[in-house]
Amino acid sequence: MAKTAVVAVGGNALITDKTKTAVEHQWEAVRETAKHIADMVVQGWNVVVTHGNGPQVGFILRRNELAAHEVHPTPIDLIGADTQGSIGYMLQQALGNAFRKVGIEKTIVTVITQTVVDRNDPAFQNPVKGIGGFMDEATARTFEAQGWTVAEDAGRGWRRLIASPEPLRIVEQRAIQDLLEKGVIVIAVGGGGIPVYEDEHGDLHGAIAVIDKDRATALLASEIKADLLLISTAVEKVALHFNTPNQVWLDRMTLDEARRYAAEGHFKPGSMLPKIEAIISFLEKGGQEALITDPPNIVRALRGETGTWITRE
Ligand code: ADP
Ligand code: MG
Repeated sequence: MAKTAVVAVGGNALITDKTKTAVEHQWEAVRETAKHIADMVVQGWNVVVTHGNGPQVGFILRRNELAAHEVHPTPIDLIGADTQGSIGYMLQQALGNAFRKVGIEKTIVTVITQTVVDRNDPAFQNPVKGIGGFMDEATARTFEAQGWTVAEDAGRGWRRLIASPEPLRIVEQRAIQDLLEKGVIVIAVGGGGIPVYEDEHGDLHGAIAVIDKDRATALLASEIKADLLLISTAVEKVALHFNTPNQVWLDRMTLDEARRYAAEGHFKPGSMLPKIEAIISFLEKGGQEALITDPPNIVRALRGETGTWITRE
C-alpha cells in the first residue's frame, strides 16, 4: 500500500491575507493549496488533510452577534461542524479539480470529525484561547455576567476566552482509516475536531471548547500509524532565534533537539510551539518522521530539498 501522510494545512492555505477574506479570495487560496497536495498524490502518497478554522469561526461568531435579535446563536460545537462542512466542501472541490488536471482519479471525502476530551480536563477551569471579535470592556462584562470568560488581549480590546483541552481520541478514526485503505483522499479533524466529552453512560455531548488543530492532527497521525506528519504553514522552514539577527533556518532536527529547542524557548506559544509539541508527541508514539514547510515547497521538501525535517534519531 502507498505511504500515508497526514497533512495539516494552516490558516494561510485558506486565507492568505487578513485584508483578503472575501469568499473569492478563500477559493483562490484553497485552489493553490490543492495543487500542491495533488502533486503529492502524483508522487504516490495517500493523504489525509486536516485544517484550521480560527478565522471562519470568528466570522460565524460575528454573525451570531449581528443576528442575535432574530435568530438563535450557533453554539460553538455546531460552528465547528459548520466550518468542517464548508471548508471540507471547498477542499473537496478544489482537490477534485486539481486531480483531474494531473490525471488522477480518486474519490475525496470530508469526514465530520468529533474529538473526545476529558470533561474534567483542567483546561476547562482555565480558558486561554481567544475567539471571536474584540469588544470594549463594558460589553465584555455583560457577557461575563452571562457566563463567558473574558479578558483584555494585549491592548487590542476585550475578547472571549474558551478552553483548549487535550485531545484524547478521534471518534471517526476507524472510518478515516477504512477510507484510506480504499485509496480515498480524506479531509478530517477540521479545526482540531468538534470537541465532545463522554458522559457516565458513554454518550457523547458537544463541549464548549476548541481543540488545537496541530495537537489533534498529531493524535490522528499516531492513531492511524501514518508514515509522515506534514505540517504546512506560512514558513518554508523552522528557525532558531526566529525573527532576530541570529536567526538560523533548520534543515533537520532530531526528537531530542526538538525537545531541547522547545525548552530553550525558540518556538512561539500559540504558533510554532504547538506544531513542535505535536510532532514530538507523534514521534514519541512511534511516528518515524515529520516535516514543516509552506504549501509551495511541499513537493520540493518531500524530495529532501527544503523544509525542516524532524526525525526520531
Ligand atoms: P498556522 O495557521 O499554520 O497554524 P501559525 O501562525 O499558527 O500558522 O504558526 C506559524 C507561524 O509560526 C509562522 O508563520 C511564524 O511566524 C511563527 N513562528 C514562531 N516561531 C517560529 C520559529 N521558531 N520558526 C519559524 N516560524 C516561527
Ligand atoms: Mg496555528
